[in-house]
Amino acid sequence: YDDFLMQRADDAHCTLALVKPDVAQDEQAVATIIGRITARGYTIKDRVEITLSRAQASAFYAEHSDRPFFEGLVAFMSSGPTVALLLEGDDVVRGWRMMVGPTSPATARQQMPQSIRALLGDDGPRNAVHGSDSAESAQRELGFFFHPRIQAEVEEEPPTPAETAV
Ligand code: GDP
Ligand code: MG
Repeated sequence: YDDFLMQRADDAHCTLALVKPDVAQDEQAVATIIGRITARGYTIKDRVEITLSRAQASAFYAEHSDRPFFEGLVAFMSSGPTVALLLEGDDVVRGWRMMVGPTSPATARQQMPQSIRALLGDDGPRNAVHGSDSAESAQRELGFFFHPRIQAEVEEEPPTPAETAV
């Protein structure tokens, strides 16, 4: 993956799509999402299903660690399986974010009723899907889910003090 990620993820041709735990076990919803992706002309180059540990979810969303919703976000993201998709296509970073819609599903239903979050999102962190917000984020986030060496390092991360406390 080194060459692949270096050469492709530093432009706008690859991005990470996540189907979050609120939707990932709903086969029909996952099929709907994948159908929309391929109908738009994007290619799914790789797919993994993983239940994130709290440490992995915290690392993935580290940029939000000071936000009041962070604990709830980490708890949600580690509550069940996530489906990660490596998407490839012209301008796919921006295009997939458009398909995903606004962060809040309620806002999405108001402003982008055709978006995936409007269709499948619930509330709070439970907004069905994730999309990398830039080519740089995509490179980092694709490494997180699809780079075997990075994934192994994350899995070996020691438990947090809260998890080891009696
Ligand atoms: P995104 O890029 O549209 O996914 O949004 P952000 O990067 O701002 O936030 C990351 C994730 O945190 C979102 O997808 C939601 O799952 C969750 N989140 C963001 N803002 C809020 C909020 O105000 N409240 C709650 N409960 N969760 C939020
Ligand atoms: Mg974001």
